[in-house]
Amino acid sequence: MRVIDYMGDDGAITQAARVSYGKGTKKVSNDEGLIRYLMRHSHSTPFEMCEIKLHVKLPVFVARQWIRHRTANVNEYSARYSILDREFYIPAAGALSAQSTINNQGRGKTLEGEEAARVLDMLKDDSRRCYDHYEDMLSQDGQAGLARELARMNLPANVYTQWYWKVDLHNLFHFLRLRADAHAQYEIRVYADAICEIVKDWVPAAYGAFADYRLGGAQLSSKAIDCVRRMVKGEEVTQESSGMSAGEWREFEGVLRDPA
Ligand SMILES: Cc1cc2nc3c(=O)[nH]c(=O)nc-3n(C[C@H](O)[C@H](O)[C@H](O)COP(=O)(O)OP(=O)(O)OC[C@H]3O[C@@H](n4cnc5c(N)ncnc54)[C@H](O)[C@@H]3O)c2cc1C
Repeated sequence: MRVIDYMGDDGAITQAARVSYGKGTKKVSNDEGLIRYLMRHSHSTPFEMCEIKLHVKLPVFVARQWIRHRTANVNEYSARYSILDREFYIPAAGALSAQSTINNQGRGKTLEGEEAARVLDMLKDDSRRCYDHYEDMLSQDGQAGLARELARMNLPANVYTQWYWKVDLHNLFHFLRLRADAHAQYEIRVYADAICEIVKDWVPAAYGAFADYRLGGAQLSSKAIDCVRRMVKGEEVTQESSGMSAGEWREFEGVLRDPA
């Protein structure tokens, strides 16, 4: 992934915000506070004054998740026009995980030994064989050769595609909140984490506010707030007395638990 272009900075956000707030927020020392205020109160349009354009190379199965974010501008490599490279995502040993037993949409422990080797072999063999067939089908060699737009259909979802992806900062933060999150699939999360580093350099105050309120923050329901208030008063609150479902209670406890 690389940055192709970008527009705006922290100053562009506060400059736009001051059109609405006018006097009283003029000092540079107030910029960070103003950005935090905007983030805290979901005053989002000033963040749309900043834009970034990335060139991303990514496996097709990651692209399918990524493209669900409809508020970006995308131009993808055309496998109708061009031949795809022989490049496939093969998970590193640590990312080769079993199905989670508690979360249908997640992973459990890492595969090891013979099982890991068997899975890796299958992934590599299938990728190699499918690409060989892709090339064979395209090959003219005295024959017509299948059209590129058709020959690609036998390629597996771990083949790499590429695109230019342009998005404004508000919508990028929305993407990052969902995809730099522990619930996102690891393979898209690594991209989101890398984008976080880019954004941190580009708009440090905006990223700081985002990391604090959105990435690191949590939204509490009115029932959860009521529980916190009762706990602060010294009451021992349980799931049964909380009014929350088991799932809500588990997530609430996750928010309260010291991550260390
Ligand atoms: C952990 C995780 C698991 C997921 N699992 C699944 C799954 O199993 N199946 C599945 O299909 N998807 C799944 N998704 C995708 C998810 O449902 C969203 O499609 C995706 O995250 C994009 O979110 P978005 O629509 O908010 O983003 P964007 O498309 O970027 O939209 C941003 C915001 O703009 C507004 N908006 C944009 N377009 C419209 C519109 N047409 N109408 C109304 N409002 C609009 C909405 O407020 C939206 O939140 C999953 C996502 C995550 C993060």
